[in-house]
Amino acid sequence: MNRYTDAYEDLVLILSKEEVMLDEPMMNHTWFEIGGTADVLVIPDSVDRLIKVIHYVTENNIPTFLIGNGSNLLVKDGGIRGIVIKTEMINQIRVEGNTVVAECGSLLADISEAAYNASLTGFEFACGIPGTLGGAVFMNAGAYDGEMSFVLDSVRVITPDLRIITLSKNQLELGYRTSAVKINGYVVLDAVILLKHGSKEEIKAKIDDLTHRREDRQPLEFPSAGSTFKRPTGHYAGKLIQDAGLKGYQMGGAQVSEKHSGFVINRDHAEAKDVLNLINYIQTTVMDKFNVELCTEVLIVGEDK
Ligand SMILES: Cc1cc2nc3c(=O)[nH]c(=O)nc-3n(C[C@H](O)[C@H](O)[C@H](O)COP(=O)(O)OP(=O)(O)OC[C@H]3O[C@@H](n4cnc5c(N)ncnc54)[C@H](O)[C@@H]3O)c2cc1C
Repeated sequence: MNRYTDAYEDLVLILSKEEVMLDEPMMNHTWFEIGGTADVLVIPDSVDRLIKVIHYVTENNIPTFLIGNGSNLLVKDGGIRGIVIKTEMINQIRVEGNTVVAECGSLLADISEAAYNASLTGFEFACGIPGTLGGAVFMNAGAYDGEMSFVLDSVRVITPDLRIITLSKNQLELGYRTSAVKINGYVVLDAVILLKHGSKEEIKAKIDDLTHRREDRQPLEFPSAGSTFKRPTGHYAGKLIQDAGLKGYQMGGAQVSEKHSGFVINRDHAEAKDVLNLINYIQTTVMDKFNVELCTEVLIVGEDK
C-alpha cells in the first residue's frame, strides 16, 4: 500500500505528469540494476523546479532521498519509502573563461567534454566516472591523479532549512569520499569548476589514456556501483579480497569480479540481498585473514523486502 499517492497528486500539479512516477522500480535508475520500488520518483527538469519540490517535501515533512545517476548506490529489495528526486534532467553546462559552471545533474563525462572543447585542463580525471556533478561533490569523487577537491571553486546548495547558500572550496570540507554536503544534508544545485588553459591534444591524449586504463581493468561489461569498498589505510581493498581467495566468488546473482576484485558486480539478476550477503562475507573473511576492516564506499539505502 503506497502511503504517498496524495504527494504524487500534489507533485504532478507542481511539476508535470511526465516528471512524476508512482511505484517506480529503482533497478531502472541505478548502475547496479538492483532495487525495489520508490513510492514516488520525481525527475524535475530545472533547478527552479528542483527547489519547488524540495520546498514541498520539507514543508510536508515527507521522507526524501536524492539521486544523481545512481552509480554509487545499492537500493535494497524493499525499495524506498517516500519521495526520490532524480537530478539527471538538470544538466546545463556553460564555459566562462577558465571556469565551467554546471548544474547538479550534469554528467561528469559531459563536463569533461565541455572542458576539452574549450581547451581547459584539470577535469580529465573525471571523464570515466559515471556520476553527476552533485553525486561527485557529495562523495568528493576522484580517480587516478585527480579529485573534485582539486577543481571545485564554489558550490551552490540548498540547506535542510531551505536557505540557498554558496560554499567556497574551503567551506566544502572535502575529504576522502566525504564533504560538507554529505555531512550536513545539503542538496547541490550547481557549481563552479576552476580549470587551466591547456593543449587540446594533451587533454585528448589524457582522456584516451584514462579511458583505456578503465576499460582494461574494470568490469564495465557488468552492472556495478564501482569500487565496493573504501581504500583501507595502507592497503588496497581489491588486493586484500584477491589475496583472501575471493576473486570470482559468487553468492546468488552477485559476484566478486574476476577482472577486478574491488568490484562486486551484478553477474546474473542479483537482488540486493545477494550483494549484501556477499559484502558481509568479504568483510568477515578479510577481517579474519588480515585483520583489516573494509568499509563500504557504495551507499546502501532503502528497506529489506
Ligand atoms: C563503473 C563505475 C566506476 C566508478 N569509478 C569511480 C571512480 O573512479 N571514482 C569515484 O570516486 N567513484 C567512482 N564510481 C562511483 C560513482 O560513480 C561516484 O561516486 C559518483 O560521484 C556518484 O555520482 P552519482 O550522480 O551517480 O550519485 P548517486 O549514486 O546517484 O548518489 C550518491 C550520493 O550522492 C548524493 N547526491 C547525488 N546528487 C546530489 C546532489 N545534487 N546534492 C546532494 N547530494 C547528491 C545522493 O543522495 C547519494 O547519497 C564508479 C561507479 C561505477 C559504476
